[in-house]
Amino acid sequence: MRDDYPKPLTVGDGAPFWEFCRRHELRVQRCESCGRYRHHPRPRCPNCRSDAFAWAECSGKGSVYSYTICHPPVLPAFADAVPYNVAVIELAEGPFMVSNVVDCPNEDLFVGMAVELCFVEIDEELTIPQFRPVQEPRATNEGPSSPT
Ligand SMILES: [Zn+2]
Repeated sequence: MRDDYPKPLTVGDGAPFWEFCRRHELRVQRCESCGRYRHHPRPRCPNCRSDAFAWAECSGKGSVYSYTICHPPVLPAFADAVPYNVAVIELAEGPFMVSNVVDCPNEDLFVGMAVELCFVEIDEELTIPQFRPVQEPRATNEGPSSPT
């Protein structure tokens, strides 16, 4: 990894989020008063203003809400990756998360695409949540088993 790769802050409201990612757990804040999930991390619920929350694990399911394709100029750390996508993922739990869709050519991306979580380890300290198209179950020639 390049030395100029941008890193998230390791202090503040978002620090636990990144620590959970290192453990391959996607957790967002869930208000303990009204039950709403939220992301990015912040001290109070934007819905009811409560400061009581827990870090709730997400299913990893979501869909592409919007996306763009990045072309030069980009940060030097990402120059070799262009053109790459940046997507807004609507998590099944409700919050939006800015990420990338991997294992998918940019021209195949579309709004509404069902995606699932995958973690990408940038280095020993940073693991980032990314998403890939949901893999369709393989078709088989066998029909469903029938009771006998
Ligand atoms: Zn709330």
